[in-house]
Amino acid sequence: MSQQDFEPPLGQDLSSINVVLETSTSSDELFKDSEIKTSDFKVISPETAKFREKYFPQTSNKQWNSWRWQIQNSYTNFKKLSEILDTSSIDDFDFLSKSRKLPLRITPYYASLLHDKPIDYPLSKSVVPNKLELIISQGEENDPLHEESMCPVENLVHRYPDRVLMLSTGFCSGYCRYCTRSHMVAKDKKHFAVKAWETSINYIKNNPNIRDVVISGGDPLTMPEKHLEFLLSSLNAIPHVEIIRIGTKVPMVMPQRITNTLVKMLKKYQPLYMSIHSTHPDEITPEVVEALRRLADAGIVLGSQTVLLKGVNDNIEIMKELMLKLLKNRVRPYYIYQCDPIPGSSHFRTPVSRGVEIIKGLRGYISGYAIPHYVIDAPGGGGKIPFLPEYYQGREGDYIMMKNFEGKSYKYYDPIK
Ligand code: SF4
Repeated sequence: MSQQDFEPPLGQDLSSINVVLETSTSSDELFKDSEIKTSDFKVISPETAKFREKYFPQTSNKQWNSWRWQIQNSYTNFKKLSEILDTSSIDDFDFLSKSRKLPLRITPYYASLLHDKPIDYPLSKSVVPNKLELIISQGEENDPLHEESMCPVENLVHRYPDRVLMLSTGFCSGYCRYCTRSHMVAKDKKHFAVKAWETSINYIKNNPNIRDVVISGGDPLTMPEKHLEFLLSSLNAIPHVEIIRIGTKVPMVMPQRITNTLVKMLKKYQPLYMSIHSTHPDEITPEVVEALRRLADAGIVLGSQTVLLKGVNDNIEIMKELMLKLLKNRVRPYYIYQCDPIPGSSHFRTPVSRGVEIIKGLRGYISGYAIPHYVIDAPGGGGKIPFLPEYYQGREGDYIMMKNFEGKSYKYYDPIK
């Protein structure tokens, strides 16, 4: 579609936004020759600065702090990755590269957190491809949540009565090895599909019961501001849409994206919620603290979502540290997800009992604000089902029997009328 073909949806006047939208454009292409503009993001932690001096000696602060530079210079092949990580234990480079699995993509910033650590360092495990991904186990499927069957129009999932999930792009600034949407992210012709957005926006417009729209993908914050603003303003103009939520991992893997310019634009579309995908407390660096501060200061309501991953964060102390750090930075922990059964993910999955133990290890020991819901997104599209430790022990006559976080028994008078 050429620019001339583009018509603003919903009869809106978008002249102030000056949208220049490509359709079906590969994001790599989109960012390839883009200008590195001066960034207002200035924070570089000492560890990251050391990494930059060693591996990107010609790179200026201005370049490093540009999110476009971060995307352009991301680690996307094993050869480049082996310059900073001991990849000798990965003996299937070629095979992994050619498989139809998620591609490799790690920003230089995120690589600076991994480079001096062993290959089994939790953050590395979450983003470095592994041959265990080639083992397909029982119950695993490409689209375990059956989202594709719940799309009334392309790239719009309508599972719950009052809310929809809009898959706005197939591109992410880093590919998580356990991604639920690995069936759609990083695939060609899934980027910036304006036609699909228009269809989705019109569907939402024609369904007055939709009051909550989640923009996800892929990662919406990898889109240029004008594209994102086009979406936000289009949705914001629909009277029955009460809130918009953005699902993103960008603040954790590319905090440089959270520029004052972006935040100023986002601030116009209140009430705006952001669900930030966080994995491990080591992600909360000075850069991330600054990114979260900017978002929270702009009045964006911040929540977190974390996937429970074996050998990465399946530990009470690690989860406690992560949840407390998030809360301290004004991010309310929202969900811990059981790892969805996508093909080749069994090495990441813990028993469900581990998730329950983790919640048990948090409840009562840290502020209730820091305790997320542990949920399984039911395979087949049943939605999120919470799992809780057994505090309720049954009834004895007019009393409810219960246990507290220390395992001590109590009863509560609750007469049967
Ligand atoms: S950022 Fe989200 S959509 Fe992208 S790969 Fe990670 S889990 Fe998947």
